[in-house]
Amino acid sequence: MSGNRTFTMIKPSTVSDGVAGAILARIQEAGFRIVALKLTQLSLHQAGIFYLVHRERPFYHDLIAFMSSGPVVAVILEKENAVEDFRTLIGATDPAKAAEGTIRKLFAKNLQENAIHGSDSDENAMIEGSFFFSGLEQF
Ligand code: ATP
Ligand code: MG
Repeated sequence: MSGNRTFTMIKPSTVSDGVAGAILARIQEAGFRIVALKLTQLSLHQAGIFYLVHRERPFYHDLIAFMSSGPVVAVILEKENAVEDFRTLIGATDPAKAAEGTIRKLFAKNLQENAIHGSDSDENAMIEGSFFFSGLEQF
């Protein structure tokens, strides 16, 4: 399955805005199949592990506080060229720089509350997917 799966997470302030369903519809319309899906909340510690690669960055502590502040929608997705195509669908990290029609352009509030996460490599997609889901939860 290498190359065909990615992991995404709809971020807390976007879930609380009530637009998770609208975002999932766009993802499916773009040709991604849902492999695994759950509403769950990260502890501060778990968010710290998920974003450990950014631990030296000045925004790390704010980011993990935000990401553990409420429920997220965690999803594994399948499509040919999943990682790259999904990053294109969500748009640039900074919504001010995101292309028209992208999920971040449509739903992000600012650089931190940018609506949605997308894995940046096949290897991270696998690591992140198995952080949230057991084999029995993937279809
Ligand atoms: P994600 O990993 O969430 O998909 P990304 O890969 O586009 O986003 P990263 O560089 O991995 O961007 O940053 C992880 C997250 O940290 C961003 O999505 C955003 O929420 C936050 N972030 C990144 N840069 C900044 C910044 N300069 N100031 C505040 N928050 C930031
Ligand atoms: Mg990233």
